[in-house]
Amino acid sequence: MESKFSFLINLLVLQCLAVVCVSQDFDFFYFVQQWPGSYCDSAKSSCCYPTTGKPAVDFGIHGLWPNYNDGSYPQNCDSGNPFDESKISDLIGNMRKNWPTLACPSGSGETFWSHEWEKHGTCSESVFDQHNYFETTLGLKQQTKLLQALKTAGINPDGSTYSLENIKDAIKEGTGHTPWIECNRDSSGNSQLYQVYLCLDNSGSILIECPVFPRGGKCGPEIEFPSF
Ligand code: 5GP
Ligand code: 5GP
Repeated sequence: MESKFSFLINLLVLQCLAVVCVSQDFDFFYFVQQWPGSYCDSAKSSCCYPTTGKPAVDFGIHGLWPNYNDGSYPQNCDSGNPFDESKISDLIGNMRKNWPTLACPSGSGETFWSHEWEKHGTCSESVFDQHNYFETTLGLKQQTKLLQALKTAGINPDGSTYSLENIKDAIKEGTGHTPWIECNRDSSGNSQLYQVYLCLDNSGSILIECPVFPRGGKCGPEIEFPSF
């Protein structure tokens, strides 16, 4: 009896050690922002403005995504912790402004935020609760000021074409870190600036150089920065 008991205790201790020391939740985060003009004029999708009105002419948040160094990522990690808007009621005004949804049909944002929390956020529960997850992500948008960094370098969302290198340099100058730029195509087939990826360490506190860049969404050497 006693040996069965101590066997169980040992098993528990081993399992706890495995969680603490061996299994790594995830390695870093991608912080992803989208250019609304490129979501809306893309060949693949049209867009719908949120029920709260046309978003500001600025980058919007897409999400904060836990990732592994090999490029893969966990998703939908905890169905027992669904999105609950009442947990972030103090952030809603800020969310509407900085994390607007552009998908159709028009919504106020809950569908998008809920998708992001449930797919990605739940995989970062070791560092964030729902409130921290959204608050931290909103803070990153203020910290990185992408549009300002680009404008300072003379890169404006006016439909003209810029060199990818100049765009990356401007963001590196502004944020201190090298971004990954994802492009999509407008309805005429031009490659355009769609999303900007920066990386955050796995404690969710500081921007870092990205350990690995996503596949796909490659840009040409010259890309368009459409208006919105
Ligand atoms: P897409 O196929 O449009 O690049 O990505 C579709 C969705 O897959 C993204 O919005 C995001 O939720 C997820 N995703 C794509 N690439 C990555 C990645 O490298 N890391 C993580 N964590 N999620 C990704
Ligand atoms: P991902 O898996 O790509 O992070 O999540 C994108 C999902 O959120 C898609 O189902 C998409 O329809 C929805 N969504 C809602 N609003 C937006 C938006 O403004 N941008 C993007 N990329 N996806 C949105």
